[in-house]
Amino acid sequence: MKIFNTLTRKKEEFVPITPGKISMYVCGPTVYNYIHIGNARPMIVFDTFRRYMEYRGYTVNYVSNFTDVDDKIIKKANEEGVDSLEISTRYIAETRKDMEALNVRPATVHPQATKEIGGMIDMIQTLIDKGHAYVAADGTVYFRTRSFDQYGKLSHKNLDDLRTGERELKVSGEDQKEDPLDFVLWKPKKEGEPSWPSPWCEGRPGWHIECSVMSKKYLAETIDIHAGGEDLIFPHHENEIAQSECTSGKEFAHYWMHNGFLNIDNRKMSKSLGNFFTVREITEKYDPQVLRFFMQTAQYRGPLNFSAELMEQAKQSLDRIRTCGNMLKEALETAPERDLNAEEQSAVDGISEFVKMFEDAMDDDLNTADAITAIFELVRSANVNVKTASGEKAPRKVVESFFNTLEMLAGILGLFVTTEDDAAADPEAEEIEGLIAQRKEAKKNKDFALADKIRDDLLARGIVLEDTREGTKWKRN
Ligand SMILES: [Zn+2]
Repeated sequence: MKIFNTLTRKKEEFVPITPGKISMYVCGPTVYNYIHIGNARPMIVFDTFRRYMEYRGYTVNYVSNFTDVDDKIIKKANEEGVDSLEISTRYIAETRKDMEALNVRPATVHPQATKEIGGMIDMIQTLIDKGHAYVAADGTVYFRTRSFDQYGKLSHKNLDDLRTGERELKVSGEDQKEDPLDFVLWKPKKEGEPSWPSPWCEGRPGWHIECSVMSKKYLAETIDIHAGGEDLIFPHHENEIAQSECTSGKEFAHYWMHNGFLNIDNRKMSKSLGNFFTVREITEKYDPQVLRFFMQTAQYRGPLNFSAELMEQAKQSLDRIRTCGNMLKEALETAPERDLNAEEQSAVDGISEFVKMFEDAMDDDLNTADAITAIFELVRSANVNVKTASGEKAPRKVVESFFNTLEMLAGILGLFVTTEDDAAADPEAEEIEGLIAQRKEAKKNKDFALADKIRDDLLARGIVLEDTREGTKWKRN
């Protein structure tokens, strides 16, 4: 497996610290609203990485945080006149719902900043004791950036280049810094903000310190992989390295993986441009699996352009895979048990080629775009070898080999290959579908009283109808 390491700017062979195990930290979202589709990209990319490494036999210890103390959360809490804990609790729950819809598995641990304050205070104290941090007169604790001579190694910036851009590094209220490059580890409380006692002042942590602390606590001082969106390389990840390496004296992470930006209609996503979408908005329009699949149609490091047209293409491509999956599943029910002829045997033997194509693509820095091409090759072969137009049914072993392989490869990408849902398996499905058809007919005839009655009668039986663009769906309450 080769991984592009941002630290060395090279594709490198992945060698874990402990054979068979991977320790991995992925920076998670700040929970002040529904997550947007840009937040979903790293979630899907690194969930796919995790699934693939597990398929390769590794045990992956996957830690991803929720930043639950931040200016944006406090602002939202003040707007709503509630406690910031209420905001973060609400949006952690909503983020988990979106993750589930996107089939992003929960991390091994999802630590939250507000529950790790003690660890942050300890690390900050260590940095002060070692001369890497200092307390300003107002109680703010700053990291002394120049005390870490490797600062800039991840973003490939040097301190003097940074100095020329230092005006941007000046933040209002941070005028007691020794040097404009220094960054905040702890800041004093302001009116209306959550705060905790500390040896320096009643206050709250800066953003960067939480990841250094959580990575160490839940994984180790040195971990295999640290990951996130490329917008985090500087300053967030650079600052994490400085804090962690100055604390432990050891390398923080061996490999740094960063996913590229997500653009909307070839423009940067922004609220002011009116092209800002939450995952919830998109998954109300599309099957969440389509969004997941769409994100995998490009290699993760490049920029990805989101548009209605490209989503439609993704939907059609995914449908081709599912049509094949459904066809295979159905064929399995009646496939005869018999020995294979030479042609059938060679079709089954050929399947391993597609698996190899898939693995080669994934081994090359998680090239999901090429891995999907391998799945389409498998689908093509399945369609040729199982859909026997001549009428003779393919034997069970052939159908099973194609179906299991398709399910396995798509499963590594977190995709489902059949569309059968619970509703179809319901013993009353036929009757309910019949009533839904009657309701549709009634609506067409503008007999809304009858349409409503059918809906209400079903509701009384605990059956909920949902009208979607693809037609009416139902589920038991
Ligand atoms: Zn982080």
